[in-house]
Order: sequence, then C-alpha cells, then structure tokens
Amino acid sequence: MIGTRLEIDLEAIEHNLTGLRRSLPPGTQVAGVVKANAYGHGLIQVSKKLADIGIDYLATANIREAIAIRQSGIDIPILVMGRTFEVDFGRAVEQDITLTIASLEEAQKLNLNASIDNRKVRVHIKLDTGFNRLGYKDFDVAFSDILAMQHLEYLDIEGIFTHLALTDVASDAKQFEKFEAFLKRLSEADIVIPIRHACDSIGAVAYPDKAYDMVRVGALLYGYCSRKTDFELKPAMTLKTNVAAIRKLSAGEGVSYDHTFVAEEPAVLATLPIGYADGIPRSLSNRGTVEIGGGLARFVGLMCMDQSMIDVTGLGDVKPGDEVVLFGRTIQMLSDIASIAGTNRNEILARMAHRVLRVYYDDGQRIEIWDGLSEGHL
Ligand SMILES: *Cc1c(COP(=O)(O)O)cnc(C)c1O
Repeated sequence: MIGTRLEIDLEAIEHNLTGLRRSLPPGTQVAGVVKANAYGHGLIQVSKKLADIGIDYLATANIREAIAIRQSGIDIPILVMGRTFEVDFGRAVEQDITLTIASLEEAQKLNLNASIDNRKVRVHIKLDTGFNRLGYKDFDVAFSDILAMQHLEYLDIEGIFTHLALTDVASDAKQFEKFEAFLKRLSEADIVIPIRHACDSIGAVAYPDKAYDMVRVGALLYGYCSRKTDFELKPAMTLKTNVAAIRKLSAGEGVSYDHTFVAEEPAVLATLPIGYADGIPRSLSNRGTVEIGGGLARFVGLMCMDQSMIDVTGLGDVKPGDEVVLFGRTIQMLSDIASIAGTNRNEILARMAHRVLRVYYDDGQRIEIWDGLSEGHL
C-alpha cells in the first residue's frame, strides 16, 4: 500500500504508437511530444521508452526539457517547438538540439554559435498558417529568409512546419492550402526541406493524408484523442490512492472547511490522502466521483490541499488502506473530471504534481517507482 501514486503503463504508450503508425501512410515519421513532463507521465521515463521503441523524433516545448533528455543519455533527434532565445543557442548547438526558428536574425546568430563549435545545427522553420501564435506570418519574408539561410554554412534546414487551430474542416483546409502553397514555392525554387509536418494528434487522426513527412503527437500516445481513432487507445496513466481514514457522521454533521456538505442522514465518509496540490482540480469538491471497491463515491465537502473526503455510505465495509481509482482505468473517467473542472484532459494530466509518486509498468511488470521529490527510486 503506497498511497497516492500515478501508475504509468509504458506498454500502453507502445500500443498507442503502434496503432498510430498503422493508420499513417508507410514511412511517415512520428515525433513523440514529451513536453510538460510528458503530459505528467515523466519526461525521462517516457522519452527512454519512446527511443527504445523507435520513435523518430522527440519534441519538447522548451530547451530545458530537451537538455534534460540529452543529459539522460538519449541521443535521438529532439525538436524544441517553442521559441528559444539567443542565450541558449550555444547549449542547443553543443547538445545537438533542433530548434524552431522564424527569422533570419535567429538563423544567423545560431549559425555563428555553430561555427564557433565547428558543427552543424539543425533547424525547423515555423510557418503561421492561421494559429496566430508563432512562426512566419508573412510568407514572402519567409521565402526570402530561407533563400538567405541556404548560405549559412553551419545551419541544416531540416524541417518546416505549421500548427493547426482545428476549428473546423474548412479552416483546417485553408491552413493546409497555405502550407502546401509555400511548399510548392520552395520546390519550384529547388529548395529541399526534408521533414515537413503539420499534424498533432487530432490532425494525424483526422487527416492521415496530410501527415506529410512527420506528425507530432502527444495526447494520442498517452491514450487520449478527441477524434475517433480506427485503433483502440489505452490510457497510460492511472491515478490511485488508498483510504487514509474512515469517518462516521450523524445526521446534521458537516465536513471540511465551511461545512459545504452536511449529512442529511447518517453517513460514512472516507478520507483520501490526495488534494488539489497533487494536481486534481478543487472544483471536483461535492461534484466529482472516484471508484472504490467496484462502486462510485462522490467527493463531499471542500477538497483540501492535501486531502479530500468521499461519501462511501452504502458501499459496504470500506476500510483504511482500501484502493481508490481517480482516473485512468477507462478513457471516460478523465473526460468526466475534465468536464466537471471545465477544462480539457491534457490540462489535468500535465498538472499532476511533482510530489505524486510515479510507478512504472512495462510488459505487465512493475519496473520502477520514481519519487520526484528525492529524485530517487523507491
Ligand atoms: C503540444 C503540441 C503538439 C502535440 O499536441 P497533441 O494534441 O497532444 O498531440 C504538437 N505540435 C505542437 C506545436 C505542440 O505545441
């Protein structure tokens, strides 16, 4: 009995990747998106698993995530999808990290850094086809900049990409059209950029014919996608805890701060050693449910920072130590929590706290218990 922990099934990630690969045109590369601690699943453990099973690329939001991966000994390509500032260019070159760029000035500075080390640095050009977040918005500038970048000796223009807003089919089509028009312009000028990519998880599922050379998938690897897949997805993460204590309430007694729940009838409550600081939304107070002993129990009273209470009245003989599942046994459980909390599933996953133990499984075996607080294995 180890209390609050995330059980992470690396085999589920492998299963989801295999399903995805089968659904894509043969030869399509897959970048595994491991930003935000691999959506809470553990940056290094997930990156290692993905590297072991032949992922083509890893993708992070920032350079610090990329460097952490490198320092763990993983040597496959890593793309930083967000903006990297000049202060980190030297480290990017030294650690062989691929950067996203969207200006000639960045390209020149990066080239200079690489020339000092006398090694090449890989870049992917970002085009803004309508998301309006990052990348070249003016494609004439992008084109003339790329022409100029071709003369930067230490720069390897390996990729070019965009990101979909996924508003509707028509707006996606418009983005693809803009992207393809620019790719055509490049090829007419005999400029070859080998890795072209646009799709995230939803894009890869909705538009496999627009996978180009690579897709960048996060959510789908972890078992979630809001479009129907023609292969089964398995959630990789299950949040579990164990009952800490049992409370018997008489009618009229309240629980937790402000007594927002008052028992109308005699009630049995179970106290759980998990609260909003562990990453579950406080808005589940008096609304969300958990699974215990094959039944469902609702949170009652205000959730505390480190503890919460559930109503187990009528659920039989619930005892301290009994196992509780908060989400992950089915895809639906996390969807329900996200919907009560008014957010999406990724936010819940990505916000699972550092202090929650991660217990890793692979091939049906428990392989590691990782404690982020002591940065050690239990
Ligand atoms: C996060 C991210 C992805 C992955 O998104 P999913 O929906 O989780 O697959 C892909 N591309 C970019 C640019 C991202 O920021």
